[in-house]
Amino acid sequence: MTAPRVEIDLGKIRANARSLVRRLGVRGITVTGVTKAVCGHPDVARAMLDGGVVGLADARIRNIVRMRMAGILCPISMIRAPMTGEMEDVIRYCDASYNSEMETIRKLGAAARKQGATQDVILMVEMGDMREGVMPEDLDDFAARVVETPGVALKGIAANFGCMGNLTPTAGDMATLSRLADQVEGACGPFVAVVSGGGSANLAWALDKGPSGRVNNLRLGEAILLGIDPATGRAIDGLHTDAFALFAEVIETRLKLGAMVAKDGQRPRSILAVGWQDTDANGLRFPHGVRFIGATSDHTVVDTSGFTAPVGSEMRIGLSYSALMRAMSAPDCQCAFKTDPV
Ligand SMILES: *Cc1c(COP(=O)(O)O)cnc(C)c1O
Repeated sequence: MTAPRVEIDLGKIRANARSLVRRLGVRGITVTGVTKAVCGHPDVARAMLDGGVVGLADARIRNIVRMRMAGILCPISMIRAPMTGEMEDVIRYCDASYNSEMETIRKLGAAARKQGATQDVILMVEMGDMREGVMPEDLDDFAARVVETPGVALKGIAANFGCMGNLTPTAGDMATLSRLADQVEGACGPFVAVVSGGGSANLAWALDKGPSGRVNNLRLGEAILLGIDPATGRAIDGLHTDAFALFAEVIETRLKLGAMVAKDGQRPRSILAVGWQDTDANGLRFPHGVRFIGATSDHTVVDTSGFTAPVGSEMRIGLSYSALMRAMSAPDCQCAFKTDPV
């Protein structure tokens, strides 16, 4: 097999999805599987679906088209606001899109009407992450304008946490989101079917015992794929954290006087044939006995004092979410499956 490659254990992804779907299901919360970190890889998407997610979501239309071309028919949402040039594809390939600008929603409506379709719109509400979203105080008016726009239907509202800001949503935030759903219904009529509370950073709240109110969906990427709560960086109880591993080949091992570790004298150092072009080198989790020294575009240098790393051997490396995302989109990084696609 060639290196670098990401080895994927679909069974673990399936199990993680199943566990989260079950635990959130008893709270009245459905799970949408977010596929952006795997570039919409169809086998990973199917593992999520086998685990019981109600639909998929991705931030890039190319990833969504990839899943559609592979024959995936479930509901798929576009979770990044569509750009001008991708309206038609968003209508064609997505059941819904997340939006925060009236101009975009009007264009979406026009594109939908041209295709004889209606696009479901979920309004993103800004609740402190300081990325996308309508300000809560503007939501009623905004929603009323969406309802009047031909070609689109108001399907729900959503919040986003822990992406730009490091905010972890509180029970108070979620109560506010529930209240906003009621308020929008009062202001402009249609039933707000989807109240999507956020992503993996919201799991601590969602799995807690407090009332979930009207929040009935989470969009989960990192928790399903890596079993990690991004709010704390810690493993989530009962989930696999090793569904993905990067295999990189050792291309040099030699005793070297390290400039950065001069006081240590000569130490065995290895070079791996993987670099910034392939992944986020700061997000690599090396085996015990290996220490990260630095990386360049095509090389990663590690101290291998506590590890045997002969030239030509492969090292198994764990991945953070951003390291995974970049590896999955790198042209020189292959995918291999540890358990077979179903
Ligand atoms: C990436 C993303 C998610 C999923 O986030 P995770 O932390 O991976 O669960 C959900 N919603 C939006 C809008 C996103 O961009």
